[in-house]
Parts: sequence; structure tokens; C-alpha cells
Amino acid sequence: MKVEEKLALGFFRTDDRSHIVLDQEACRACDLKVCLKICPAGLYSISEETGEVVVEYAGCLECGTCLLACPKGAIRWEYPRGGYGVQYRYG
Ligand code: SF4
Ligand code: SF4
Repeated sequence: MKVEEKLALGFFRTDDRSHIVLDQEACRACDLKVCLKICPAGLYSISEETGEVVVEYAGCLECGTCLLACPKGAIRWEYPRGGYGVQYRYG
């Protein structure tokens, strides 16, 4: 089974508020923008409307990779509230 197929088994219960908040000032000054490439779920992108870095928190795998990789400490990240977020299923 491919990684993509395994990830598709996950079930998400989405909160109405994001558990990931970005410091846009720091993001604007960031040249590397590693978040665009390092998230295994590909949740970071550049908004076509505003040009800002945005994150689709609803599909977060709660791996914490973006938090560790961001060179500017611009990500405020916490686990989703109880009952929300990803539920992993195996098989
Ligand atoms: S790597 Fe960090 S500072 Fe740079 S754009 Fe992404 S979240 Fe912002
Ligand atoms: S915690 Fe993992 S899945 Fe969630 S946004 Fe960060 S890198 Fe992507």
C-alpha cells in the first residue's frame, strides 16, 4: 500500500478554529519557506488572493514537522481540542 493510500484511511473531525497560527510578519521576511515543501500532507500554500502563506489545518496529520522545521519560529501550534483532529485507522 502506498503512503498516499495509507493517509487516505485517516478520518478527520474538523474544529471550527485552527490549531495552527502563522506569524505573517515573520513569513513575509522568510526566504526559505520550507513549510511549503516539508508538510507531508501538503497543507501549506501561498494564497492567490493575498500572497500570504496559508495552512489548511483541517487535514493536519499532527506530526509536528512544520513546527520543528520553521526557521523563524513563526508557527504557533497546539494539538486540536479534545474530540477534534485526525484519527488514524490501520488496515
Ligand atoms: S517556514 Fe516558517 S516563517 Fe517561513 S513561510 Fe513557512 S511558516 Fe512562515
Ligand atoms: S503538523 Fe504535520 S501535517 Fe500538520 S501542518 Fe504541520 S507538517 Fe503538516
